[in-house]
Amino acid sequence: MHAVNPMSTHHQHTHPDKRNNSSISVSLPSSDTDALSFQTSSNRAETMREATVAWAKQITGYPESDKTQYLLSRWLTVASNFPQRSGRNTLLLSLQHPSISCAVTYETWNESYDRRIKRDQDGFFIWSPVIAPQCPQCGNAKRQHDASDCEYSKTPPSDWESGVVGMAPEPVYTPKQTTQFGTPQEERPLPRVPPDDLITIIGKVLRSLEGYYHITTVPPDETHPERKAPRHKTHPLKSHALDIYSLSERVSLSNSPTPSEIADALHASATEMLANPTAIPQLPDWVSPVKTESELEVPKRNCEALLATHLVCNVLNITPPEPVEEIPIKTWYGETYKQVTDRLDRALAVASHILTPIQNAAQAH
Ligand SMILES: [Zn+2]
Repeated sequence: MHAVNPMSTHHQHTHPDKRNNSSISVSLPSSDTDALSFQTSSNRAETMREATVAWAKQITGYPESDKTQYLLSRWLTVASNFPQRSGRNTLLLSLQHPSISCAVTYETWNESYDRRIKRDQDGFFIWSPVIAPQCPQCGNAKRQHDASDCEYSKTPPSDWESGVVGMAPEPVYTPKQTTQFGTPQEERPLPRVPPDDLITIIGKVLRSLEGYYHITTVPPDETHPERKAPRHKTHPLKSHALDIYSLSERVSLSNSPTPSEIADALHASATEMLANPTAIPQLPDWVSPVKTESELEVPKRNCEALLATHLVCNVLNITPPEPVEEIPIKTWYGETYKQVTDRLDRALAVASHILTPIQNAAQAH
């Protein structure tokens, strides 16, 4: 969440959802030697949007193809380095670089890291919010307000409060593009800690999610198949309207969990957060607006949960519970661009939500 580069307001303000330009064709990368570039400034915003739309079309139209598997795995690699960025921006980064792990704006390098960008560097483009005085009625900046049907005239534009009036392309740069070598410590969201310590920390974090998400950790002796709680027990409070839902399986975690137990527990926790409506009210709306009214939504949410698990496992260097090929992306077949990017946003939000306390605990360690 950085200040917006005042220079970027020179770009044409283009909301990524409001363009409709079918003249641009994007060829998505199919190997690590391929990358898209948004260096050409004419049509940059349109090309960026076309690229992410093409990605979504590929994923939802051909979920079982090799190309989809490749693009999804490339996204997971890159997005795990940027769990706090949006679905659209992590997609853009993954399309421009197969393994980019750190990229911030010109101002951030200058102000936060005291580093300068080398001459003639091509940045990687992402969307940044444009902050400007905003019409209280239509929410647009003055120029778009003037061009629209909006008749608001109660207060003059000089009195309007500033807000996000659109999104504009903004370049970000990697450590290699700065005048100093080496990567800043902040490159990775987690500081390096010995694996055994990290496992202990993660165990504590998962147990601390217990109260917050109604996730129950059970002692290992209770995970014996005969003692395990029934998986499809209906929550008493939800039994009426939402009886298709069930309390999902409980998170099992021993006192000294193995990496694979950790991966399973992370998966179960992400599933609770994304697909269990008894946990969802705890989350802010933008993470998990309650939209699991239909039974069809649940498998799609389960797919989001597995993506979130992959993101977290990538950061923690743990093998995810299922390989990328087993991620049920076909449950998203035929979905729209917005649905897909919302799902990526939720997977990232949940990954970030799990990673933040782990990061805090690891730093305090
Ligand atoms: Zn207006």
